[in-house]
Amino acid sequence: MSRFFSEKYTFLEPYTPGEQPQDKRYIKLNTNESPFPLSYLAALEAEMAAEKMQLYPDPECGELVKTAAAVFGLNEKEILFTNGSDEALNFAFMAYCDNEKPAIFPNITYGFYPVFAEINSLPYVEIPLREDFTIRIEDYFQTGKTIFLANPNAPTGIALKRGEIEEILRQNRDSVVVIDEAYVDFGAESCISLIHGYDNLLVIQTFSKSRSMAGARLGFAAGNQALIEDLRSIKYSTNPYNINRFTMAAGIGVLKDEEYTARNCAILQETRNYTAGELRKLGFSMTDSSANFLFVRHPGISGEKLYYLLKEKGILIRHFSKREISDYNRITIGKREDMDRLIETIREILEERE
Ligand code: PMP
Repeated sequence: MSRFFSEKYTFLEPYTPGEQPQDKRYIKLNTNESPFPLSYLAALEAEMAAEKMQLYPDPECGELVKTAAAVFGLNEKEILFTNGSDEALNFAFMAYCDNEKPAIFPNITYGFYPVFAEINSLPYVEIPLREDFTIRIEDYFQTGKTIFLANPNAPTGIALKRGEIEEILRQNRDSVVVIDEAYVDFGAESCISLIHGYDNLLVIQTFSKSRSMAGARLGFAAGNQALIEDLRSIKYSTNPYNINRFTMAAGIGVLKDEEYTARNCAILQETRNYTAGELRKLGFSMTDSSANFLFVRHPGISGEKLYYLLKEKGILIRHFSKREISDYNRITIGKREDMDRLIETIREILEERE
């Protein structure tokens, strides 16, 4: 830290992204990326975008918004695109939290939420999950706070039903409820269809997971027109050109190829169920995941130990040191052959320990 760093940031604990090692080739099951390549249509559109790279991109993202509005059944004024969904989440913290309206979210959830609160000097409250890692919806009734819920939650993968989220919306008419649907396409119910009924609902999605665009950084917020105008004010006060030409073109292409996305999501869920079954046979227990990852523990080996042994053998998974979940590991679902390698390697590790 330099001696010039503003005092307001000296206590900041930055978010730690999953490892992106460059030293050797790993089977990467640690950051919930898609195992499928970018849609061919999207790649073609991105290639064509190179021709106009000397020009700034459209700050309104007009064509992308129009295409997305048709896909998601929304009006064009109800969507705002962002540089990854992380940017949309940061905008929501900036727009809807302050000393009178603290943020509220579970104590076990996406690790970036407290960091967004901290960097914006916002108060926040963390609500413990139940022992089985489920969310008690009553904890989010009449809160008077801005609610952030990942659905499915991360890193547990457990999803609330749309009806349960609707109950939370009803119980918080005067607070914004932000539903982070990063993993919704892998088996949970989206709340996008509730937007027209609730002016306090903001849904945030990403193209990083089900649409294989983690490297391009594209996400969006969807909500009623007034909420989207708020976020637009923040975008135009920070980075009007937040979506570059390559990403915008790829985003349009991928939305024209929804069949490809749907097929990939179906394959991924099949592979998840298969992997869950095999890991159970090896003695693992796990949460009921509706996401593109499993959250698992084994009675015979600590989460941290398994993480290190797998890394030594060229397989990366995610371990979190937070006390409540330190027995667990989060394993991204990859290609079937990568999951078979993982299962075989774990079998060897467990046998060596006997
Ligand atoms: N929300 C959740 C729950 C996530 O796990 C992630 C991925 N790390 C994000 C949002 C952000 O994804 P991105 O910025 O790639 O859209």
